[in-house]
Amino acid sequence: MFPTLHSPTGVIIQSEDLVEWSFLSHNTVRTLTVYLDQPGILTGQARLRVVKLCGSDPDKIIVSMNKNQIQQAFLNSVNWQINLAGFTEVLDNHYPKNKIFQFLKLTTWVLPKITHRAPLEGAVTVFTDVSSNRKAAYVGPKNRIIQTDFQSAQRAELQAVIAVLEDFKQPVNIVSDSAYVVQATQYIETALIKYLVDEQLYQLFSSLQKAVHDRCFPFYITHIQAHTNLPGPLVRANDQADLLVSTVLTNAQDFHSLTHVNAAGLKQKYQITWRQAKDIVQHCPQCQVLQLPHEGTGVNPQGLTPNMLLQKDLTHVSLFGKLSYVHVTIDTFSHFVWAACQTGEAAAHIKRHLLFCFAAMDIPQKIKTDSGPGYYSKSSQAFLQQWHIEHSSGIPCNSQGQDIVEQANRTLKSQLQKQKTEGGTREYSTPHMQVQLALITSNFLNLSRKHLRVVMPPKGSHS
Ligand SMILES: [Zn+2]
Repeated sequence: MFPTLHSPTGVIIQSEDLVEWSFLSHNTVRTLTVYLDQPGILTGQARLRVVKLCGSDPDKIIVSMNKNQIQQAFLNSVNWQINLAGFTEVLDNHYPKNKIFQFLKLTTWVLPKITHRAPLEGAVTVFTDVSSNRKAAYVGPKNRIIQTDFQSAQRAELQAVIAVLEDFKQPVNIVSDSAYVVQATQYIETALIKYLVDEQLYQLFSSLQKAVHDRCFPFYITHIQAHTNLPGPLVRANDQADLLVSTVLTNAQDFHSLTHVNAAGLKQKYQITWRQAKDIVQHCPQCQVLQLPHEGTGVNPQGLTPNMLLQKDLTHVSLFGKLSYVHVTIDTFSHFVWAACQTGEAAAHIKRHLLFCFAAMDIPQKIKTDSGPGYYSKSSQAFLQQWHIEHSSGIPCNSQGQDIVEQANRTLKSQLQKQKTEGGTREYSTPHMQVQLALITSNFLNLSRKHLRVVMPPKGSHS
């Protein structure tokens, strides 16, 4: 038998003459056939053929493996055990002197190099797990949650293992609670993948094999019984992986992909650790692109109590089409923001917006705006007088004048940008809904140390 690529080649010889070639079938029964199994199967096949041709077992079976390798084959491969059962003749590794055999001998066995059979000393250890809602995760020196499309938990787990193999280039020990995944991963390096009717599984196995072949450093994978109460570091770490895909965390992640709330707000709302909250935000593609630097609110006059001083401004969101005029009002004390999109910036729009604000934020003492004509129209001024509100406007072209509300505009715009994802928030697609979603996040969900104490709306301040 010769160790040819993909699958071994057998030759039946009678007194140094070639009688027949022997090959394995292209259609394998199993999805993954380990290379080491194949010589075993081929031996059995050739043995049967020899019995058919001459009525007895062959005198010699020649395999170019040393004693140790043969022992390993018997230990690890059921096919070797079955197909060589009862063989009492010679198992040799010296080929006949014939030139063709000497040439074939030069090919080598395909044996795993990257996949190790024992834990790697000094390597990082990573735990993988999946949840019922198609999320896969790993926990190690860094954590990651992956949203998959797979109905099957095993497939999602395979996806997690592939992610580990790709993300950790260094030597790595992987611990998974799926025996199926562990076995598939142990075999994949040298396995022949049967072309499957199930395209998805075939693709998964192919990318698993590619991930293993692309590695320069070895890995080791082992199985851990899920949810045992035994003590020890492995069980503890596995529980952490469980936790990562647990309902709380997946809920937190789902909630984040809707609102893009910051890590502090997420931590507070779901009672998760700071690191878990940060991981979720850091793995959100929308939140990576738009990390706006926090600018100070400068020397702008601020109210001393809620509703003492509002700043109102207008910002354009071209994405909203006809409704691109977004009126924004902020309470300079609490930083509570109210915004609505309208079709213009005339007096009628301003009045409508302010009435909205009063309903949500109470009636203010003072409003500061820019010196746009809409605010100084007769009807706007009459409206403000009616509500006994003092009105002032910043000096034109002075960028400091409306600093607080301009910061709110930027926050609102970046929030709208984050929400603009494919699929994610499609059900909140109208301009009004988009603005309201952004307001919920920036008013109530996002927390920062500075705003912790004033994040509530200024209700009850009229007492
Ligand atoms: Zn986000």
